[in-house]
Formats: sequence, structure tokens, C-alpha cells
Amino acid sequence: MAKTKKYVYFFGAGRADGRADMKELLGGKGANLAEMVHLKIPVPAGFTITTEVCTYYYQNGRKYPKELKAAVAKALAGVEKAMGKRFGDAAQPLLVSCRSGARASMPGMMETVLNIGLTTATIPGMIRLTGNPRFVWDAYRRLMMMYSDVVMEKAAGIEPAEGKGIRTQLEHLMDEMKRASGAKSDTDLSAKQLEILCGQFREKVREVIGKPFPEDAQEQLWGAIGAVFQSWNGRRAISYRRIEGIPDDWGTATSVQAMVFGNMGSDSATGVAFTRNPATGENKFFGEWLANAQGEDVVAGIRTPNPLNIATKGEQTQHLKSLEEVMPPVYKQLVAIRNKLERHYRDMQDIEFTIERGKLWMLQTRTGKRTGTAAIRMAVEMMRDRLITKETAAARVTPAQLDELLHRILDPKAEQKAQALAKGLPAGPGGATGRVVFTAADAVAWTERGQAVILCRKETNPEDVEGMRAAGGILTALGGMTSHAALVARGWGKCCIVGAGALAIDAHAKTVTAPTGPYGSGLNKDRMAGSKTLREGDWISLNGSRGIVYAGQLPTVDPDPENPLLVEFLGACDKVRRLGVRANADNPRDAATARRFGAEGIGLVRTEHMFYGEGADQPLFLLRKMILSKTPEERRAACDELYPYVKSDIRGTLEAMDGLPVTIRLLDPPLHEFVPQGEDKQRELAESLGITLQDVRRRAEALHESNPMMGHRGVRLGVTYPEVSEMQIRAILEATAELRAAGKRAIPEIMIPVTCTVNELKDQQVIIEKVKKEVLSKFGLKKLDFLVGTMIEIPRAALTAGRMAEAAEFFSFGTNDLTQMGFGFSRDDIGAFMPDYLNKKILAADPFQTLDQEGVGELIRMGIERGRATRPGLKVGICGEHGGDPASIAFCHKAAMNYVSCSPFRVPIARLAAAQAAAKDAGARTAKKGTPRKRGG
Ligand code: ADP
Ligand code: MG
Ligand code: MG
Repeated sequence: MAKTKKYVYFFGAGRADGRADMKELLGGKGANLAEMVHLKIPVPAGFTITTEVCTYYYQNGRKYPKELKAAVAKALAGVEKAMGKRFGDAAQPLLVSCRSGARASMPGMMETVLNIGLTTATIPGMIRLTGNPRFVWDAYRRLMMMYSDVVMEKAAGIEPAEGKGIRTQLEHLMDEMKRASGAKSDTDLSAKQLEILCGQFREKVREVIGKPFPEDAQEQLWGAIGAVFQSWNGRRAISYRRIEGIPDDWGTATSVQAMVFGNMGSDSATGVAFTRNPATGENKFFGEWLANAQGEDVVAGIRTPNPLNIATKGEQTQHLKSLEEVMPPVYKQLVAIRNKLERHYRDMQDIEFTIERGKLWMLQTRTGKRTGTAAIRMAVEMMRDRLITKETAAARVTPAQLDELLHRILDPKAEQKAQALAKGLPAGPGGATGRVVFTAADAVAWTERGQAVILCRKETNPEDVEGMRAAGGILTALGGMTSHAALVARGWGKCCIVGAGALAIDAHAKTVTAPTGPYGSGLNKDRMAGSKTLREGDWISLNGSRGIVYAGQLPTVDPDPENPLLVEFLGACDKVRRLGVRANADNPRDAATARRFGAEGIGLVRTEHMFYGEGADQPLFLLRKMILSKTPEERRAACDELYPYVKSDIRGTLEAMDGLPVTIRLLDPPLHEFVPQGEDKQRELAESLGITLQDVRRRAEALHESNPMMGHRGVRLGVTYPEVSEMQIRAILEATAELRAAGKRAIPEIMIPVTCTVNELKDQQVIIEKVKKEVLSKFGLKKLDFLVGTMIEIPRAALTAGRMAEAAEFFSFGTNDLTQMGFGFSRDDIGAFMPDYLNKKILAADPFQTLDQEGVGELIRMGIERGRATRPGLKVGICGEHGGDPASIAFCHKAAMNYVSCSPFRVPIARLAAAQAAAKDAGARTAKKGTPRKRGG
């Protein structure tokens, strides 16, 4: 007999059915509430309705499983018992909240309803119980605002016109009441005024929605449960899922929880905190709180929140009282909970708490979103404190977070000279500059047109996610460090400044104005910009690490690879990873950059690059002379002239890498690429070579190919012009011998490109052997350290890898060409059809960006296997763009390559990705050994 499913999980009063590792079923919120109960942390009792109910609800025409009603009733009875109150009871009324929570955190993207169970019947009882009519009427008006908006309007699918939503209309009534009574803030309204307001609300709800506000507690409860499930498919939630890649079928759980009240007077409060600073990673308890307020007030940015403690007061919050000062015993208790949670979860937690008449309650804990800087600092410091292992530290930082530290910042020199427009809270790191736009839709549209934009909003609003994603930076006038948009921006590592209160942002007029005079205590008066108005499309620059806004387009600069925390973190990654990391570098300067970023060698030097760019005039001229030669003798003479340039270029790169391996690829492109096209240029060349324009033209025509990608290139050049190969090989080996004579070490790896049969390698090997002998005798050496290998970039080479390895001491997979030829896609022409392939899901990803593991990957796996069968010690690497792509790097790890090679700036990312791949292996090994996993650890 099939056991009936458990749909409802109780927590509270020292007992919980769920656990932290049950996020799939209970959502992050429900699972962690249960876990906190196990940790003996004070949590208001409640129960979680599982994500399976949500899935069921959507699969069955928005109906619940029939067992649900009874299960909810039973769990609710448990909550009543734990709290000593009864839901819907006139004398001892219990109020609850109904909270959404998916497996993955989706901050603010779904709905939560508070104060459920307040009705005309329970209000008098609540007033008697609390002795605080003002609080009760305030709670009731909040319920009406939230419930009418979330349940009666949104969940019912009503889409009101702009500004006509029920919530906005109720807010107008409240503003009206505040104005009429001269109240500055919500807290200034009296009990009587709030009671009258509630009466007005009731009328308004009936008028706008056409239905009375529900006066039955059970009806309110089930309405809210349904609305939470509905909010899984709300517009905000859907677009957030698209961006974050969260599957639509996960569903949300709903937690129903006894209410505790932070708005019962000055001995009550609510707050949000991070166990460490989420922007900098500093190991200091960091948070914000508000006295006499209810949950959402802090995050909504309605009132400016106070800092949690003295240590974390900022320039902007110096004058505000901290919880540490106002309620020392409660603060101490909170610190103890913070320590307990960090020790237990071994990661930074993002927590919500409420203080009801001096009693502390925890309402949420989850792993906190953080900036890249913070992620690295926390990983390193927790590793130092032995809270986590190297493997865990490596796994904690995403490649995107690491990338943030490798990203551009505003040029500090330019910043020093620039006038600040305003100052806000540093919510997301790095520098950004762009044109001002005022709506999320504009941010998307302008970005699509190729414009860099900064999204300016009065307040942080979760409906803006798509625009926030598109924008290069985000700026808001309101909101704190824990506001939803700050949270989202931080998660994405996006440059963001919130709470720049001095700015007047007018979204209708599309202007942002900074008033004259000193504002923001941290700013130097004489550097004030004065009153200034920026319009849509004007340039603006943000320093998200410091929270400073500038008018105009400030220059940006590259970050510092010598940052000590970064060095320590990557050092730990290096200990974990098995894959080597090299860089693709074409000249001594790139080689030096690659080393600074930690490259352990060069996986690809494209020799042809010495013919482009600065200082290339003479070598290019000589190369052209060689190309235009008519006889082997002429060609040999031109090669001899070119030789010193090639040798010195190679020597420079070998020297920069100082004993690290350097893979030098012999000339790869078809020769016509080097012959000038225009008549002027051709005439010039003819004159300097002392030949006729006719000669140049004829040669250019002769070199013309109808399909150069598959034309006379790579090893095929070496086969027809052995003297060209010989010249390059001699340059490599003599440069090596010279460096040795100078007491330096150099390990070149000669790489023969575009091969498809071992016979091509054998053909070139004859030249290599001859040159080697000559160099040895010229320098009086017995041996020279170097390898000879090939690039595997043609499917036939991969298929015949067993034969190729007879001659090749190493393989380097050239995955750009291998993808081109494996798919038969010309990389330069995919623009016409790739978007359709992706939209129609014919391909999951652009195979030129992330390696196609199924097809091209199979060629690689086969190539490695067959190659190593012939030559067990065969060294294998990758040198396409894929060498810097984390998913592709994980593949290379699994395929047992020796190294990946990528562009110098991607080297740190590759070191991290390689460590993560190895850490995953280690994790899988431990799991297989059957080591019991610590619950919730
Ligand atoms: P979100 O996922 O958007 O943070 P939450 O479910 O956490 O939504 O709730 C929103 C706010 O309401 C939070 O500040 C939370 O602390 C508060 N809240 C939720 N349930 C309760 C409760 N039972 N008692 C007091 N405050 C609550
Ligand atoms: Mg929350
Ligand atoms: Mg190639």
C-alpha cells in the first residue's frame, strides 16, 4: 500500500519535523526554520506546506491534495498549543504569517502576508491581550494593505492600471490621514486615527475590488496560502528564475508561522543582519534595525534603518542609535545566536529577527549573498580559522565572483580629481559608468542598442530585476544595505549604490538632481558639485565599493592582481586543483601578465602575431618578401633575413616565462592574409621590393583560396615550404640554446598545427632532427630540452590519435577549429543561425563559448584515450577559448588533461574552476566511502 505523502511539516516548541537539508521539500526558509528549532534558537512556532503541494496545485487546476486541509488543521492546532492562543478565537487570538520560500533564495520575488487572523471578531481580544489598541489597528491596516494587494488583487489576476492598484490607493488614504493630522511618520498616527483609517480601507477595498475584505480567519488563511503558491508564477518571480536559471517546476513551499510583533512599542523592534559584512567580507556582525516596526519596514526602505552595533556605524549612520546601545541584553543574545549559526552552518548567514517587548525571536536564516570581494575574504578567513577546508573554500567562490575582483574600477586618479555628485551606501562593488536611464524597461532597451547604462531609481523595487540585470550599474536614492535591490545586485556582483538620499530622482521628468551645499557628512565641501541636474542619456559614474556618485564618464582601470587575499585564495585553489593552468600569450608582455596572474606556462604562442602591431613593420616586410619569392633560393634568402626577428621574439617570450614550458605554434594562417589588398599598399610593397605591381598582384591572385579556413595553412605550409618551417624551428632551438648559455632555463614545446595524419608530423620531424643536430654542434651541447607535439583541431587527427602519438610528445586540443570542423559551423558565420538554434533549444549553448561535451568532447576523450594508449606519458592540454570557460574546464579535468590554457586575464578563473572540479571529485569520493554526512552541515 502506498504510504500517503507528508504535506505539512511542523516546527516550534522544541520540536521540528524538518531539517536544513530538506530545502527541496520545505524551501530554504522552512528548512532553516526547522533547523534553528533543533539548535534551540527561539523561533515562533509554525508549519511548512511542502513544495510538492505547489507542484500538485499547478498540475491539478489549482487544487490542493485532499489530505491537505486536515494536515493543516492538525499542524495549526500544534501551533496554537505551543503559543497558548487560538486562531480565530475572540478571547486569545493567534495571528500568523504566510511566507513563501523556494529551494533557492529568491529575495522579495514572491509574496508573504503578515497578521493573518485579525478580524472584527478578534480585534477586541487582541486589544485586551496587548493593552495596546494603537498596535492592533496598525497591524490591521497592514493586513488590509498586504492582503488586498497580494491575495485579492495579484493572486486573483487583476491587473490594475498604472497607479490604480489597491495598495497604492490605500497608501493614498494613509498619506491623506497623515497630512490631515500633521503626522510626519506612520508611527505618529494615533490609535483612533488608525481605526478610522481601517474603516476607510474597508470601504475602499469593497469599492475597488468589488468584494468585502474577508472577516473570517480561516478564509484569510487559505486565501494567503493560495496567494503564496500563485506568486511562484508571478511576473517578478518568473523573470528572476529566467535570469538565475532556476527551473520553473521546483515550486515554492509555504510556511505558516505564529506572528511576533516588533511594532508593539519602543521595547519592540525588527531587523535584518549578516553574520559578516556582505559587501567587504569583514568578520564583523553587520545589520540594520528599526524600533517599533514590523518585518518588511526595514527592507522596504520606508524608514532609514539604524545600524546594529557601534562597530559598523558608517559615515551616513554615525548619528543613529544602534541596537547594541539601545537594548544591550537583547543585542548580546543576538550575538550569541550569530556565533552559533556561523559555527553550525560554517558560512555567512543572512538573518531576520524581531524583538517583541524585549523578547528576541529569530524568523529566518539563510546563506547570505555576497560580493566577490566578500566571498574571497570570508573563504580565506574561515579557512584560516579552520572552519572550512581548502576544498570548501574553493567551492564557495563562484567564477563570476572572482571575476568581480578582476574587473574594472574607476580610475582612482581621475576619481580624486572628480567632483562627487552624491554619496550613498556601497551596495555592490567595482566601478561602472554609463548613461542615466530611469526605468527598467529603458535599461533593457538602451542596453540592447549597445549603450552602457546606469539605472537610477528612487527606491529599490523587485519588479526592476530585468532592468537591473541589463544595466551596468544601479543607483537608488532610498533603501539600505539590506534592501532587496541591494541584495540582488550584490548577488550578481553588480556595481550598485543605494540610499543616495541627497539625490532627487524624478522618473517622470527623467531627471536626477543633486542639491547645492554640504550633504553626506563624509564629503569634502569644496569638492561638491553644487546643484546639478542630469537628464536621461547623460553620463554618470559610480564607485560601488565606496558609494560615491559622479557626474560624467570617469575612466576605468584594471584591478590589482597582487591583492593579498586574492593571492592567498588562489594559492589555496592551486593546492586543490590537479589541472595545470597556462595562458595563451603572443608576446613577452602578455607572457609577463600571464605570469603575474599565476600561469604555469604558455599553452599557445601564435608566432604570426609578431607580424602585427607595434614594431612589426620590418618583420612584416620581410615576411612579405618571403611570400613573394619566386624560387626556393629567393625564399631561403628572405627567411634568413627574417630569422633574427623571429628568434628574438621567441627568445623574449621564453625568457619572460623563465623555465616554464612554452608551446610555440609554427606559422598557422594562410599566406594571403599577409599580402596587402588595396592597390596603393600593393604598389608600395612592389616599390620597396623592387618588383612590379603586376608581380604582387599575380602572387596575391595565386594565393587566393575559395575556402581559406581549410586551405593552404598550418603544417601544409611547412610541407610545401620546408625552409619556412626550418627557419622557425632554428629560431626556437637557438633561442633556447642562447638562453642556456646565458645561464637561463627555457623549455619550448614545438607545436605543429592543422595536422590530420601522422605522416605530416613525420615529414616535419626530419627537419627538426636536422636543425637540432646543427644547433647542438653550433653551441657545443649534448642535448636540448624541448618537446615536439601537435595541435589536434581536425576530427581526423582526433580519430587517428593513436597514430599521431607515435610522433607527437604532446597534444593540444585546438577546440575552436575542432568545434568548427566537428559541427561544420563556420565560426564567422554562425551569427545568422545560432540565435535560432538557441531559442529553439536545438543546442543548449553556443558551442564556441562552452565546449560541446557530447560531440566535440567525445572527439577529445577518444583522442586522449587513443593517444595515451600509444604513448602513456602523452601530455595533453587545450588551447581554444574554452580553456577559460568554467564548465569546459570541469570537462578537461574529467578528461584527465594535464592543463588548460586561456587568455592571461582568465588565468585566475581557470585556477578556481580547476580547483572546483577537483574539490567536487574529492567530495564525491568522500560520499562514496559512506562517511556519514553531518546533518545540515
Ligand atoms: P521575504 O522572503 O520577502 O524576506 P519573509 O517571509 O521573510 O519574506 O517575510 C517578510 C518580512 O516579514 C520579514 O521581515 C519577516 O521577518 C517578517 N515576518 C514574516 N513572518 C513573520 C512572523 N511570523 N512574525 C513576525 N514577522 C514576520
Ligand atoms: Mg525574509
Ligand atoms: Mg587552428
